[in-house]
Amino acid sequence: MPDRMNEIIEELAIANRILGHEGVIDAFGHVSIRDPNDSARYLLSRSRSPLFVEPDDILEYSLDSEPVTPPDVQQYSERVIHGEIYKARSDVMAVCHHHAPAVMPFAIAGKPIFPVFHVGGAIGAEVPFWDQYDEFGETNLLVVKPEEGRSLARTLGGHSVVLMKRHGATVVGATLRELVSRSIYLCWNAEHQLRASLIGTPQPLHPGEVKLAGAINVKTTAATRTWEYWSLRLKAAGFWPPRQSKAKPARRAMPRAKSRAAGKKKRR
Ligand code: MN
Repeated sequence: MPDRMNEIIEELAIANRILGHEGVIDAFGHVSIRDPNDSARYLLSRSRSPLFVEPDDILEYSLDSEPVTPPDVQQYSERVIHGEIYKARSDVMAVCHHHAPAVMPFAIAGKPIFPVFHVGGAIGAEVPFWDQYDEFGETNLLVVKPEEGRSLARTLGGHSVVLMKRHGATVVGATLRELVSRSIYLCWNAEHQLRASLIGTPQPLHPGEVKLAGAINVKTTAATRTWEYWSLRLKAAGFWPPRQSKAKPARRAMPRAKSRAAGKKKRR
């Protein structure tokens, strides 16, 4: 029987690479999925640029963002973003945190992003702002403490996207594919909104339009078409991920670092 967990891990690697390839995530940023077999755990890559994430890089975490098995590889410092949102939102199955160039002007200027075209309806009618400074004062702006992650999750509330002042954005989805689509179209919406503001005054979709248009985007037909499009672009660019190196029991998503020769110093 093919291991369903292996398929999920491979799809997560593909999602990482799509978001890297489509310009949502660069060297930084990360994407996770809740473990479909255990809602108290989630899957996230080791610290690595998402464009290069392989199935073997995927680690499993508790919702306190502690690794299920202590890894011998570097971990993302901002993983509490994922754990604290999964705790707060039982409906969320996937999370992406990024600093996409398209959203940064809004995150820096404190200007709201709102849906300005039908596909942008996926972001929801309102995108709240979170400012780490408000609650935690002067920090390095990384969301590393559980209380910082909890505060971000509180501001996200029941929304699909939260903008982080002078930092970036965090996006959630009910499925991995919905998350990927929403993350990419958040960026397109921001691009269109900014450009439209140079030649006129962009108006948000009406509330009913956000509901109706947003629902279309997550339908299977649309999700299949977008996933195929982004997957084929990824393949054509030569970034398709390798398969998992060996069959692993579902509960052991913890890779050993293949490339780390014995005795080598750990990378910071
Ligand atoms: Mn960040």
